[in-house]
Amino acid sequence: MSEGPGKKARIIDGKAFATDLRGRISRQVGALRAGHGITPGLAVVLVGEDPASQVYVRSKGKMTREVGMRSFEHRLAADTAEAELLALIARLNDDPAVHGILVQLPLPGHIDEARVINAISPDKDVDGFHILNVGRLATGQKALVPCTPLGCLMLLRDHHASLSGLEAVVVGRSNIVGKPMAQLLLRDNCTVTIAHSRSRDLPAIVRRADILVAAVGRAEMVKGDWIKPGATVIDVGINRIEKPEGGSRLVGDVDFASASQVAGAITPVPGGVGPMTIACLLANTLTACCRAHGLPEPEGLTA
Ligand code: NDP
Repeated sequence: MSEGPGKKARIIDGKAFATDLRGRISRQVGALRAGHGITPGLAVVLVGEDPASQVYVRSKGKMTREVGMRSFEHRLAADTAEAELLALIARLNDDPAVHGILVQLPLPGHIDEARVINAISPDKDVDGFHILNVGRLATGQKALVPCTPLGCLMLLRDHHASLSGLEAVVVGRSNIVGKPMAQLLLRDNCTVTIAHSRSRDLPAIVRRADILVAAVGRAEMVKGDWIKPGATVIDVGINRIEKPEGGSRLVGDVDFASASQVAGAITPVPGGVGPMTIACLLANTLTACCRAHGLPEPEGLTA
């Protein structure tokens, strides 16, 4: 499967995978409507006018509609009181047309993010951030799993016949990427190491990895000579850097030019993990909808 040192790594095309995934979701949504008269619904709540968040919310709404689901967008002013946001979440929790609820983060500073996330019904928590879903994932129970690590897992499962017994290193321990990624890899029987900013000799830790997931937020930090020949590299990082000739471009946490000479397979940035996140949000919404109606889990969409 791996191609060894000196040869160019296989590029893991997350964009193509995500397009195919959305196609599969769309077909399952169609079957759900035809067979049961049910249309999955996703509610997205945006508080404030953060430009990046506005872009994310718009594209989430568009892709939700494209796969045939109902999209409910709630835009609240930046000075919305926490109580008002909690009241909206309570209404969405009770609304049978809403199967998934996502509150776009970050929230304005006067709102307690943890309180808001934990107010979402765990069965509608399609971001997988509710403390019950975190606990379910950690204890091997049926959970809704955070979208970015779920997308990484799907790419890894597509590339490897089995992950069992492989050495996996996750660099980064955030609640939204690093920690759930490590749990998912552990669930698939990898031997998992989590590295972070206090880890000693990071290159030596990374060199052990058959599977490397970099979720750090530091442009091109992981160099090619840190990577075990033939390893599979999943680069979650999205960093904007200035180009010498002016303007800017997106790069990952891995130095793609050197790493792709050593790795067996690697995700590019952009076009790797990024497109998987929204596709997995739609997958989670479909899963939540099927569970809410007591229907079988959709195939190939869960961890
Ligand atoms: P966080 O900032 O929450 O976490 C970063 C992690 O990296 C922390 O655990 C931190 O360690 C660790 N870290 C920082 N510096 C170093 C270092 N020098 N050596 C080793 N570890 C280090 O980031 P996120 O997890 O939210 O995101 C990570 C990256 O992924 C970002 O670039 C983000 O933009 C991207 N991202 C991409 C998504 C996508 O859809 N593709 C979705 C979500 C994120 P410590 O805990 O010790 O501080």
